[in-house]
Amino acid sequence: MLTKLSEQIEVAALKASPAGTARVFGALPAGALTALQTGRFKKTLRLVAERSPFYRDAFRRRGIDVSRISHPSQLGDFFTTGEDLRQHGPEAFVVGRPETAFQTTGTTSPVPKRVLFSNRELNAMGSASAAALHLMGLRRDDTVLSAFDCSFWVSPAVARSALQYIGCFHVEAGKIDPLECYTHAVAYKPNVIFGEPSWMIRFAQIAAERGTWPMKLLVAGGENIAESARAEVERILGAPMLLNYGQTEAFGSLGLECLEKQGYHRNDLHFMFEIDQPDPDGYGELVYTTLTRDVMPLIRYRASDITRLVDEPCACGLFAKRLAKVRSRADEMVVCGMGNVGPWVFEEILRGVEGAGEWQAVLSNNGRFDVFELRVEAGSGGRGAASGAVGAESGGRGARSGGEGAESAETLRRAVLANVKERFPDFWKNLQMGLYELRVTPFAPGSLRTGRKLRRIVDERVLAAAKQVLNPVRND
Ligand SMILES: [Zn+2]
Repeated sequence: MLTKLSEQIEVAALKASPAGTARVFGALPAGALTALQTGRFKKTLRLVAERSPFYRDAFRRRGIDVSRISHPSQLGDFFTTGEDLRQHGPEAFVVGRPETAFQTTGTTSPVPKRVLFSNRELNAMGSASAAALHLMGLRRDDTVLSAFDCSFWVSPAVARSALQYIGCFHVEAGKIDPLECYTHAVAYKPNVIFGEPSWMIRFAQIAAERGTWPMKLLVAGGENIAESARAEVERILGAPMLLNYGQTEAFGSLGLECLEKQGYHRNDLHFMFEIDQPDPDGYGELVYTTLTRDVMPLIRYRASDITRLVDEPCACGLFAKRLAKVRSRADEMVVCGMGNVGPWVFEEILRGVEGAGEWQAVLSNNGRFDVFELRVEAGSGGRGAASGAVGAESGGRGARSGGEGAESAETLRRAVLANVKERFPDFWKNLQMGLYELRVTPFAPGSLRTGRKLRRIVDERVLAAAKQVLNPVRND
C-alpha cells in the first residue's frame, strides 16, 4: 500500500518540473522511501532470477530462494564484482532489450567493463539528475558548457538528458585541451561548467591569465580533487565546485555533493547502499544494488571504493542521506589526473623498455595537480624486448656533462614517455593538457622491494587526506 503510494508520488514527481520533483521528494513521509526501495528491490531480484543467466545460475548454486529475500543483506556473502562483468560479458546479465551501451574507461585490467541500458533508463536517470542539479542551483536561464569526455563515457549522456528536463542552454565541448576550450567558451560565456576536476583546474588557470566572466556553478565528476585545488578553482572562477560520485555501472550518479561539501547525498530512489565489512568507524567497501533498471540490473555490486554511510542530517537540510568522501580504492586502481590507472597500465608502459626491472608508482598531489612518480629499478635484466626504448631518439645531448647516471635516467624517461604516447593516447593527451605530471626516477636493482609483496601503486593522496593513519584501510 505504502509502496504503491510512493510509486505514484514518484511518477507524479518525475513528471513535474525539476523544482517540483525536488519538493515532492523532500515531502515524502518517513518510511515511504524504505517501502519504495523494498518494493523495487524485490521486483528487481525476481527479474534477474528469472531472466539473467548469471544470477539464475548463481542463486541456484547457492540455494537462494529469492521469494524469501526482502533486503540485499539477506543474500549473505553473495556479491557481483567488476570481474564478473568482464568474465561473463553483459549478455549474462541482460534481462531486457538494450538500446545503448557505455564502458568503463580503464580499470585494473585492459578489458573494459561493458554495461547496457535502455533509453527509458537514461531518461529516468536524467530526470533524477535534473532534480539534483536544480537543488545545486541550476535553472532554465543558465548557460552550460560541458567538457565531459564523450567516448564511451556515461556522464555526458546523463548530463544531456538532465539538461533537457531543466531546459537551459547547453553546449557540448567534449574533453578537449582546456586552452582550446577556453577560446571557444568565450563566445558563450557559460555560467555553469561540467568537467573532470583535473581538467577544471587547468581551465581555471587559463581563465586566471586570460580573463574570467561571472559564473554560478561548477560540476565535476570522474575523479577526486584535493581541497586546496578546489578552493583555488572556486576562487578564480568565483563559483562553487561540486562533485558528483558515480560509476558507469551505476549509470552515472550514485551521489552528489551539496554546498556543504561534506559527502555525497545518496541517490536512494535508484539504489540500495551497503558497506561490506565496515571497520569500527563504519568504513568499508561500498556495495550497491540497482532498483530501477530493467536491462542490466546489478545485485550487490562491489564499487571497489572505501567509504561509509552517513545517516546524520546534513547542514544543508536536504532529506537525502549521504555517502562519506571516498577514502581509497579497494583494488589498486587509482582515479587521478592521468585517468583511471591500475598496475597493468605501468606494466604496459614499461614493456620493452631496456634495463627496466621492478617498479612502483607513487601518486601524490602538489596542491594543484596529481603527480605520478614512476620508480623503476634500472640497469637490471630488463623486461623482455631486446630492441630497447621506442623513440628514445638516441638521446645524449649534453648528457655527458651530467654523467652517466643522468644520461640513463634521461633515456629511461624518454622511453617511458614514448610508450605512454604510443600505447595510451588518452593518458598522453591528459599529460599534454597539463592535467598531471609524470616523473620517472631510476632506482638501483633490488632497492624497491622491501617486503614480501611490492605494492605497485601507492596513493599518498589518501594518506595525506586521512588524518587517522592508524586506522587501517582494508585490502592493503
Ligand atoms: Zn547537504
